[in-house]
Amino acid sequence: MILRKKTRKFHIGTVGIGGDSQITVQSMTNTDTQNVDETVDQIHRLEAAGCDIVRVAVLDADAATAIRAIQDRIKIPLIADIHFDYRLAIKAMEYGADGIRINPGNLGGEEKTALVVEAAKQHNVPIRVGVNSGSIEKDLLKQYGYPTPDNSSALIESALRNVRLVEKYGHDKIKISIKSADVLTTINSYRQLAKKTDYPLHLGVTEAGGLIAGTVKSSVALGILLSQGIGDTFRISLTRDPVEEVRVGFELLRSLKIRQRGPELISCPTCGRTRIDLFGLAEEVEKFVQTMESPLKIAVMGCVVNGPGEAKQADIGVAGGNGIGIIFKKGEIWKKVKEDELMDIFMAELKLMELESLRDK
Ligand code: SF4
Repeated sequence: MILRKKTRKFHIGTVGIGGDSQITVQSMTNTDTQNVDETVDQIHRLEAAGCDIVRVAVLDADAATAIRAIQDRIKIPLIADIHFDYRLAIKAMEYGADGIRINPGNLGGEEKTALVVEAAKQHNVPIRVGVNSGSIEKDLLKQYGYPTPDNSSALIESALRNVRLVEKYGHDKIKISIKSADVLTTINSYRQLAKKTDYPLHLGVTEAGGLIAGTVKSSVALGILLSQGIGDTFRISLTRDPVEEVRVGFELLRSLKIRQRGPELISCPTCGRTRIDLFGLAEEVEKFVQTMESPLKIAVMGCVVNGPGEAKQADIGVAGGNGIGIIFKKGEIWKKVKEDELMDIFMAELKLMELESLRDK
């Protein structure tokens, strides 16, 4: 059982962050925010994948004003991501952003940050103070050195300095992120930071990489932190379709038994006993499973001899043999089927179980 660190609670739009709120999965669009149709389409796909909060980049005034039109067509809260130009942060809030992500250190001075914080208070908009290894102030780098796994002081002090600046102007709906591209630095930094603040923490490894490298790095860093009760919300950063970020995020939460969304797919790695095209079968089932909502455990196994036993915990599973396949439930054979009919019968039963499971909810 994971004992979660106590943090303050507030809402971004309708979604709770920190305190007893569930840990939320975020992603960021990679469309041009001015292109409302494309951005809304991508956010709809993110919503379908379970994304709790979405962030969009605001690079200019047109992107800031587009927020209203985007907001009108989506269900989840929207955070505007702003660098350098404090006016964009203010405009984004005027046009309905539920949250903003800024690095107060790069907004052009305290006066400008003060104006942003004033606007945030006025619109009741939480601020994410997001610093990363590349944006640390020079004096802190000089004093503490570039962040390493053994010394994250510059990163932490930079975040706390910027948090104090926001507090100074009377706003306390703050969450903090301190990102590094290095896994050990990320773990160490957030551990230290969690001891120094009770603001909610937004976790992430920045520039984590493509699907495999990014998933591994993010899962190691965030898995360790979340398992120690640190972190209230997170984004898995991948050089991929952002929908994949959300899928990886939910698998991570599922693996830690923190939060479950949709079915769990179990599939064997295959071995010399495999007599069917298991990769193709697993891919087809995986595609279908992404459209399901029920918490069923579904297995796709390579052989009829060991498959049902190895996947005993599955509510329903399929195992391929030599021309014949079996469909099993909780380790017991339910039906023997000719291989060419296996997929259709399995899918039909899966759909039926999904309907029953949702009806019983
Ligand atoms: S289920 Fe069968 S094919 Fe798959 S790994 Fe186990 S023994 Fe091999």
